[in-house]
Amino acid sequence: MKEIFKRICDIDLGKKDSWQGKIFLTLDVDWACDEVLNYVIDVIEEYKNIKATWFLTHNTDVLERLLENKNFEIGIHPNFNNLLEGNFSLGRSKDEVIKKLMSIVPDAISVRSHSMTQSSQIIDNFLKRGLKFDCNHFIPHHSQNSLFPWKHWSGIIKVPYMWEDDIAILEKDPFKVSKILKSDSINVIDFHPHHIFLNSIDMRAYNESKNFYSNFKKLKKYRNNQKNGVENWFRSVLEISNEDSNYWKN
Ligand SMILES: [Zn+2]
Repeated sequence: MKEIFKRICDIDLGKKDSWQGKIFLTLDVDWACDEVLNYVIDVIEEYKNIKATWFLTHNTDVLERLLENKNFEIGIHPNFNNLLEGNFSLGRSKDEVIKKLMSIVPDAISVRSHSMTQSSQIIDNFLKRGLKFDCNHFIPHHSQNSLFPWKHWSGIIKVPYMWEDDIAILEKDPFKVSKILKSDSINVIDFHPHHIFLNSIDMRAYNESKNFYSNFKKLKKYRNNQKNGVENWFRSVLEISNEDSNYWKN
């Protein structure tokens, strides 16, 4: 059976069928607490054969569980924002920021920066630390472009993505999975565990719960249980695993 879900590390530029018409679920961890991460893993593991790429922001006890699931790839999600503001809490240089995360997941080969921060020099650092796939280009699905991965002049593989949960919320773009996926395109989708857990419908709960990021008890009170939100959107993507290779024929 041909799998429709793939991980970023599965991309082979020489083999179109390693990415064309495939779905790449990516998760920007964004410092979500362990309970939230476990909640999202539980949701994914309700479905069969879901492959996903997690972009890690910090060391966590949940890492062991993430590494145990062979369908998961663990990449890194470096935050260069502090550095740009003259704050050295995450490292004194771009290389230090990357190195710290690579010491947590030394085998990582995929990266997406927090806020998509990128530059030629940052890419050179990614390569120096062993990273091979850079997922920092966002080209929205409504631009109607068919997307594909390509080799950047530096040698890194650029992997564009076309949908992100909080951008869909900000753009008030109603979610329908068949609207965003294309059979002739690479389909890289980006979710945040925090928004999945909150089942966000707007940014209100997210912004109001920012100070309780690690206080699961308090966080729970902000969860939306009334309307269709990010968790429902996420599940509608996961449900494709039930149709799998027949998906494009329907
Ligand atoms: Zn982020």
